[in-house]
Amino acid sequence: MAEGGVQGALARTRIEVWGVVQGVGFRPFVYRLARRYGLAGFVRNHSRGVTAELEGDPGALDAFLEALEREAPPLSRIDRVESTPLPPRGEEGFHVVESVRETTREALVRPDAAVCDACLAELFDPEDRRYRYPFINCTDCGPRFTIIRDIPYDRPFTTMAAFTMCPQCQSEYEDPGDRRFHAQPNACPNCGPQAWYSRGDATVTGQDAFEAAARDLAAGAVVAVKGLGGYHLAVDPFNGEAVMRLRERKRRPHKPLAVMAADLATVEQLCQVPSGAPEILLSPSRPILLLPRREESPLAPEVYRPHATVGVMVAYTPLHYLLLDALKRRGHAPVLVMTSGNVSGQPILADNAEAHARLGGVADAFLDHNRPIHIRCDDSVAQLAADGGLQLLRRARGFVPDVLPLAPAAPVPLLAVGGQEKSAFALGQGERAFLSQYLGDLEMVETLEALKAGVEHFCRVFAIRPQVVVHDLHPGYLSTRYAQETGVPALAVQHHHAHIASVLAEAGHRGPVVGVAADGTGYGDDGTLWGGEILLATLRGYQRVGHLAPLSLPGGERAIREPWRLAVAALYRLWGEDLGGRPLPLPPGVERRTALAVARLPAGPYAPLTTSLGRYFDLVAALLGIGQVVSFEGQAAMELEAVCAAGPAQPYPYHLRKEADGLVMDLWPALEILAVTQEPVPVVAARFHATVAAMLEEAVREVVDQTGIREVALSGGVFQNRRLTRLLRERLTAAGLDVLLNHAVPPNDGGLAYGQLAVAAARLTEGEEIRT
Ligand SMILES: [Zn+2]
Ligand SMILES: [Zn+2]
Repeated sequence: MAEGGVQGALARTRIEVWGVVQGVGFRPFVYRLARRYGLAGFVRNHSRGVTAELEGDPGALDAFLEALEREAPPLSRIDRVESTPLPPRGEEGFHVVESVRETTREALVRPDAAVCDACLAELFDPEDRRYRYPFINCTDCGPRFTIIRDIPYDRPFTTMAAFTMCPQCQSEYEDPGDRRFHAQPNACPNCGPQAWYSRGDATVTGQDAFEAAARDLAAGAVVAVKGLGGYHLAVDPFNGEAVMRLRERKRRPHKPLAVMAADLATVEQLCQVPSGAPEILLSPSRPILLLPRREESPLAPEVYRPHATVGVMVAYTPLHYLLLDALKRRGHAPVLVMTSGNVSGQPILADNAEAHARLGGVADAFLDHNRPIHIRCDDSVAQLAADGGLQLLRRARGFVPDVLPLAPAAPVPLLAVGGQEKSAFALGQGERAFLSQYLGDLEMVETLEALKAGVEHFCRVFAIRPQVVVHDLHPGYLSTRYAQETGVPALAVQHHHAHIASVLAEAGHRGPVVGVAADGTGYGDDGTLWGGEILLATLRGYQRVGHLAPLSLPGGERAIREPWRLAVAALYRLWGEDLGGRPLPLPPGVERRTALAVARLPAGPYAPLTTSLGRYFDLVAALLGIGQVVSFEGQAAMELEAVCAAGPAQPYPYHLRKEADGLVMDLWPALEILAVTQEPVPVVAARFHATVAAMLEEAVREVVDQTGIREVALSGGVFQNRRLTRLLRERLTAAGLDVLLNHAVPPNDGGLAYGQLAVAAARLTEGEEIRT
């Protein structure tokens, strides 16, 4: 109390705080602040935020309000604070009111968060009782989404149920003044989970486990490491032979491998770190961020080659910190390759016994622990968006299950099941959408099982019972069949409309916009394969006003893995039977005779036509001798982007023409030149990107001129290509148009379910009948 204060000069205020303030340690934070400033009163959750009433010295109240915004917990986000003066009551003491009823579901199921600075300090403090304890956590950090079995979010409903808190942990848990007040995963070396390291029959525990793992990693071993959402496979990123061993054993010849570093300084030795990147790298969600490699980067080229970027993340669990610290103390840089411990395209492995069985042939040793993972969750992958900020390419750990906006609100609870590749589903209730984590590719039966189990889990913890299920138009997708088997009334949404809707929904925009949807292939509403479309779209509907000139896919799906097929078909179309008598861009083992047979396939079931822009990128890459055979979709296009010469590039000619079904964007004039050019590959690659950007811009402007719509949305997997997105965005912006891009959801098929949800909500709001 202030010296000489006037007797009875008390004030009382009610504050309502809105934003992300539940489930993030906000009430104990308010409690500690109130105590610091000698204020009486209480704090509790209300239906969408937190309410507190505070009473005491008016100056102390002001200081409290200032500190409230300045010192808010790391995982919280304050959108708005409203305060109302009340008459003082002479209340004494401050308390936290329990009100599970008032706590929202999304507050109970928060994303996992990287270990906080306070816990890290304790981890490396020899005087602390949790010194070098790999499962240290508090209200501000640690596992959430991956350990929750059911609601309410209480320890018995998490995978921590088997660990009974010791008296010391229990008293922290019960003390509103403690950083671990109601931290459900609270644990210490005496009562919590343990880690151990095993190679063959030998097992070591405690700090020795980390020393042994570091020793073996430094010697080139592949070690499976159990983390937060599943297992990683770790290997020394400076040892090219060891990296190749991992690639061969995992049968992952080309996909770039992510690396994990102990800190920002280490990242800076590997990559260029542009402005905006440190905040993302060190955020509690700690995604893998794709960054340009430094020219003198010491990483073995086997980690990233042939790509120009490296996926880097900063360690996010205490266990990872201990492992990297053990490496550092051996004189080794604290960096490891950390790639998902899975069979390619399948969900990440998380169960100890299953991981040992499935990864036994890949890993030389295992760093395990006994805290079960209930929900598997891969690392998220992000890049810096062409318009700044973060753009997620894979939405998973650290972001799921954060709420996404849904407007118009879903008139009934909805489930959207997404597509086939990069499977993820979404639930919608009212104006909230919950997009699941990336699950894998649905060709794999394990991924379908994960989808079904995931839907069940989300429905339970968020208490949503879907009354309509939304799926892709493609009748062959396993997600479509699953949707139809649920017995719930179903609604189909066109693939590229869903992509554009995902951008609109993120921005809270209902359209109309000029949508450019460009990706691999998706099912068109005419039954052909689309993938380079201009849609005049609202959330509710669309009109296809433009598309690429169709391209033959000889061998159908096979052409996706073997882009040389696209190239020979194109040359055949240009030059006829003798294919110009020129050498062909064929991979080893494919003879000219075979190639000619492939090229001759007439359009039809064995050579479907597609308007996919992704396939044009593959075609050009193959013509240039890059990626004639690939191991994953989009690889050739990624390599084409990586090889581009720096600086401005002159577009090749292209042709736009009006046909009955809209504007046709024809890249053949460019291909004719490209097929015979003597220019260096980096120049051709850069010029091709410039051509596509110029062509799309001109097409968009045609539509803008006809409609007066000045907003443009870009989505689909092709817009993961930063060079293309940047070039196109610059051109459209220079023409005075507003350009919308994906940020919180991926532009690839990982964002489809969210777009499907937004379309369904809009259509149902307008009273559309659904089939049952
Ligand atoms: Zn912490
Ligand atoms: Zn304990």
